[in-house]
Amino acid sequence: MGLDFDFTDEQRMFKDMIVDFGQNEIEPLVEDAEKNELFPVELFPKLGEMGLLGIVFPEEYGGVGLDKITDCIFSEEMGKINAGIAMCVNAHTSLSMFPIYKFGTDAQKEKYLIPGIEGKIIGSLGLTEPFAGSDARSIKSTAVKKGDKYILNGTKTWITNGTICDYAIVAAYTDKSKKGTGISIFIVDSNTPGFSVSAKMHKLGHRSADTSELIFENCEVPEENMLVGEGGFQGAMETLLGARITHAAKSVGIAQAALDYALQYSKEREAFGRPISKFQAIGFKLADMAVKVETARLMVYKAAWLYSNGKKCVKEASMAKLYAAEVVQDVATEGVQVLGGYGYSVEYLAERYYRDAKLASLTEGTSEIQRIVISRELGI
Ligand SMILES: Cc1cc2nc3c(=O)[nH]c(=O)nc-3n(C[C@H](O)[C@H](O)[C@H](O)COP(=O)(O)OP(=O)(O)OC[C@H]3O[C@@H](n4cnc5c(N)ncnc54)[C@H](O)[C@@H]3O)c2cc1C
Repeated sequence: MGLDFDFTDEQRMFKDMIVDFGQNEIEPLVEDAEKNELFPVELFPKLGEMGLLGIVFPEEYGGVGLDKITDCIFSEEMGKINAGIAMCVNAHTSLSMFPIYKFGTDAQKEKYLIPGIEGKIIGSLGLTEPFAGSDARSIKSTAVKKGDKYILNGTKTWITNGTICDYAIVAAYTDKSKKGTGISIFIVDSNTPGFSVSAKMHKLGHRSADTSELIFENCEVPEENMLVGEGGFQGAMETLLGARITHAAKSVGIAQAALDYALQYSKEREAFGRPISKFQAIGFKLADMAVKVETARLMVYKAAWLYSNGKKCVKEASMAKLYAAEVVQDVATEGVQVLGGYGYSVEYLAERYYRDAKLASLTEGTSEIQRIVISRELGI
């Protein structure tokens, strides 16, 4: 008996609690958030109170001290409810708080991690720039030491939580002569003079997520806000591996929601005197969708299990991220097909799942980047 696919009782209870919380506290906020393209910030303290922002963090910081599997359960359920809201929560926990937990000083953890887990402050990660996305080492932002401060200049784009964040984790060159190794990472308070939001970005999907461009203009960052110094950038990026698995779990959630929606519709919609689910073409389509969702889920939870058990999972995390991204796009596209013309209407959720699905292959490392990682792991 070497394999066990069951969640523990604790994980099952956790899942029930999230479903309940999602129905009562999140779903009522979704419609307005989507329409107004605004993340409902009032959700953060509520998530904090429920312990949902501290799933993987130790109790000494106010976290719950659970594992990646539980984190994925949370992300999958959030993905089912609303992809944009799920993305903002993941950006806060996996992208902005996790690096502080991993590399921060005690003082930084006290100031940012503890209130972040409580949902009292919101974080973002500012890595991408207008001319540097996948090729992160080509960023142009600089941080020049002056006395006990660093003077930060640069532009960051596509930043999730950009307009609502209290702090941003920002990568900038402290030594431009050293390509890649001259990058340092800072925690920058959003109320620092020179920190501004230059544009809110309007998107195909994930509309409830806050996404914006940030500008840093002679922004004075205290030296104690350095999170990772020169030479540590690559290692810091590697710790975002866990975020990749959480991201894949969110894709599985969106795909499952798209499948459930299409399945339900197919049983209710009639054509030629019977429910469309009774046409083999539709039944087989739904069967294929279900197989894909289940396969992606198995890959995600296997990667999460490896991660939780401290085993190497670079390849498995990228495979899960890549595959879940393909599955969610296929399933959401077929979901629209099952609804026929109604799938194209904004009045039906299939349309939103279709728009939300595309992002899966673009963020947290594009699908091409995942293939590069996987082929490298294969020794190519
Ligand atoms: C909604 C949204 C939210 C985001 N949130 C954040 C955030 O919170 N923080 C943040 O820092 N960034 C964020 N991003 C940015 C995201 O991480 C980048 O968009 C992503 O890294 C890709 O970079 P790029 O858009 O510059 O594309 P590019 O890197 O220019 O890539 C363009 C195309 O070329 C391909 N490509 C690039 N290099 C290679 C290669 N070596 N081999 C093969 N193909 C290649 C890519 O896969 C892609 O298909 C977000 C983006 C979006 C859309």
